[in-house]
Amino acid sequence: MSIAGPIYLDYAATTPVDPRVAACMAECLGAEGVFGNPASTHAYGRVARSRVEAARAQVAALIGARAGDVIFTSGATEADNLAILGLVRGMRAGRAPQELHVISSRTEHKAVLDPCRQLEREGFAVTLLTPAPGGCVTPEQLREALRPGTVLVSLMHANNETGAIQDIAAFGALCRAHGAAFHVDAAQSAGKLPIDVAAMGVDLLSFTAHKLYGPKGIGALYVHPARRVSVLPLMFGGGHERGLRSGTLPVHQIAGFGLACELAAADMGAESARLARLRERLWEGIGSLPGVLANSPAAHCLPGILNVSFSGIEGESLLFGLAELALASGSACNSDSDEPSYVLRALGRDRESAQSALRFSLGRGTNAAAIDRAVAAVRREVLRLQALAQDEPGQGEASGEAGTREQGTWVRFMLKTSGESIAAASHQAYGCPQTLAVCEWLVAQLPGRPWRNPALGGPLEWVRTLDIPADRLTRLLVVEDALRAALAAAGGSPKARR
Ligand SMILES: *Cc1c(COP(=O)(O)O)cnc(C)c1O
Repeated sequence: MSIAGPIYLDYAATTPVDPRVAACMAECLGAEGVFGNPASTHAYGRVARSRVEAARAQVAALIGARAGDVIFTSGATEADNLAILGLVRGMRAGRAPQELHVISSRTEHKAVLDPCRQLEREGFAVTLLTPAPGGCVTPEQLREALRPGTVLVSLMHANNETGAIQDIAAFGALCRAHGAAFHVDAAQSAGKLPIDVAAMGVDLLSFTAHKLYGPKGIGALYVHPARRVSVLPLMFGGGHERGLRSGTLPVHQIAGFGLACELAAADMGAESARLARLRERLWEGIGSLPGVLANSPAAHCLPGILNVSFSGIEGESLLFGLAELALASGSACNSDSDEPSYVLRALGRDRESAQSALRFSLGRGTNAAAIDRAVAAVRREVLRLQALAQDEPGQGEASGEAGTREQGTWVRFMLKTSGESIAAASHQAYGCPQTLAVCEWLVAQLPGRPWRNPALGGPLEWVRTLDIPADRLTRLLVVEDALRAALAAAGGSPKARR
């Protein structure tokens, strides 16, 4: 890595563009390059068109498809939307929407769940299956959910949070037998696991370049030729991509995607084996920590993903303490919602362990030294936060506590007094980084001050002194309550303070 930043362990979120891919893309940009519009009939257009078609063949080869059955989109999100909204709306054919039924699962990516929700708003019937504890929908669950009106089943190949790999071929066989169309979100698995749309009985398959060392902003949807007539486009324009996705083709993106697919296919076996060894090294390093819980399945998991929770640790503080690692977490602060990972919640994890989940995702730039540094950092932080949150008041100390772990904040202060003044202060805490920072600051300020009135102010002053975002104020009320209780205990009476 050329930038001196944190160790990148977030390859499931996106990957850097392979330098060979970047060079290939650059060729398609300037006046000397293949910059023409592939729809133009002159020589520039023809050259661009042949570049697009060569890339289409490379992309199709990765999933065992014919080139003509691959449609370029802006990414997997658009491909998922086109597959789900396009197919179901297209199959309506005069029927009332509630007669058409769609099956998907609670642990799908938002790019699948949100179009399913949209279909529900439009009146279509949608069933979301809850995967078995290992994280996979079972073929039996799918068989039971299929009903006469089921027109589409959408189930992902590998999960983006846990890495769990589902039995696509079994789902495909059930859908074929039933006559339902089968869509697969393969954004995480394409280029990492072998895919053969024909052998797996897949009708529609979405994937994206930026998860396999290609550029962002380009992806593909495979559509089985027999299903193509049923898919309504989401965009209307020049009728590009068999009328399913209008818009001038981005030749540089497509050429880069094509090469990225070819490189991924050539490297797949060796790279998977290498990543699996590194993941094993990571698990050996952190799996023995107290309270560790693997959210990734032991078998049938992407080689590059390991998702773990740490019980008794607040997720935001853990991530805050791991600033030298670039990681995804299940913590709500990592997303735009208040809820920790809905995927882990759907797998039966409680709020607290979903909140403390870390997703390590490894890739081409990851080596053993990076794993060893990550292991050392995680061990250090987990042990530190566990020690801080452990629940054992010392002997001969006045202690007071407030809050609960379930609510996300718990604090206990312990004070030793000498006459009228505080001789020593310590604390135990479970909470966000700001809560911990305020506690630390308070125990540094308390010694030497009178326990009757240490004059350290309250949450409003602490927020200002320590430059804390105002939305943390309610958590600091817990700190104040715990401090009050400890000061009261120091005075031997609840009214001791003032
Ligand atoms: C990344 C991802 C997507 C979205 O892909 P984009 O190309 O970024 O739109 C969809 N599904 C899964 C499972 C993903 O991992």
